[in-house]
Amino acid sequence: MSFYDTIKEYETFDFDGYFANVTVGDVERSLGRDRLDWRDFLNLLSVKAQAYLEPMARKSRRLTIQYFGRTISLYVPLYLSNYCNNECIYCGFNRTNRIKRRKLTLEEIDLEALAISGTEMKHILVLTGEAPDITPIDYIVDAVGIIKKRFPSVSIEVFPMEEAEYLRLKQAGVDGMTIYQETYDQEVYSKVHLAGRKTDYLFRLDAPERAAKAGLRTISIGTLFGLGEKRKEAFLTGMHARYLEDKYLDTEIGLSLPRINPAEGAFQPYDPVDDKTFVQFLMAYRLFMPRAAISVSTREKAEMRDHLMFLGATRLSAGSRTDVGGYTQPATASTAQFDISDMRDVAETIQAIRDRGLQPVFKDWELI
Ligand code: SF4
Repeated sequence: MSFYDTIKEYETFDFDGYFANVTVGDVERSLGRDRLDWRDFLNLLSVKAQAYLEPMARKSRRLTIQYFGRTISLYVPLYLSNYCNNECIYCGFNRTNRIKRRKLTLEEIDLEALAISGTEMKHILVLTGEAPDITPIDYIVDAVGIIKKRFPSVSIEVFPMEEAEYLRLKQAGVDGMTIYQETYDQEVYSKVHLAGRKTDYLFRLDAPERAAKAGLRTISIGTLFGLGEKRKEAFLTGMHARYLEDKYLDTEIGLSLPRINPAEGAFQPYDPVDDKTFVQFLMAYRLFMPRAAISVSTREKAEMRDHLMFLGATRLSAGSRTDVGGYTQPATASTAQFDISDMRDVAETIQAIRDRGLQPVFKDWELI
């Protein structure tokens, strides 16, 4: 059994017909229930539910406080390399883009980690493109070893791996992983992933399970909004999260909602998600998955992120750079993966959290 079986089950489901027939009564009933089933989730993702954003917000806020308190966890991304052998047509690191490429040496990684450690941040998210010839797993293991000296929590957002490779990274000190399926629609997946190992839809789909089996503590998934049909994507993402939560009881499951931002190559989203729909989806995730961490990165504007702190988001990145070497050598850093919308530094982000009566959490876990 894999989540692919669930995807197959919904292959012939008439999503458009279902969404078109959702009634006000359906939305109200779903809003009133404690544990939502898949039909409730669809109801809350429907256009009809956009008239219910206020009650959704109240319930979302109540559940978030119930499970997370008045806290926002913080992390900071650290890009090791932007070499990539894949050809994802929406990404600035796509192998066909003529951009400035860089891979940090181990000494440079230490300097970047040192620079970030001057802020209050304690959780690093390590990122690379997919180029195992240039950034093999040995390199990532060495990088994690260096970063771990300064940071209690290190997670990865790299290419999908085998279970044994996740285990190796866990032993090196990695405690979490993020991987986006990008789109659950296999046809769209083939259309936007033209070459490289990422063309293997199933290997990517099952990566969160392999990581869970290897014992990683936190696993975050998401779809990249803008590629597949947005309501169907949001639904399958939530179903994937619940599948993982039900099957891997020791693992903390998280959700992210990345939206396509301008990148090298000027890809235009097929099915863009506007701000109102974005907020609706985030709250529907919270209502469907009350215990899931929900991350919002600096792809989103400062005002939006501030607003989302009250509506279900529990984890924010801060002071982010999406270029390689950006924390210590901005003049020689690589081209960035995507444009950042929230340009605030760590101190400003922390202040924004405190100004709203919330508590920034830098560290909630350490291996001893
Ligand atoms: S999305 Fe990831 S795998 Fe695809 S081109 Fe960009 S860095 Fe490479």
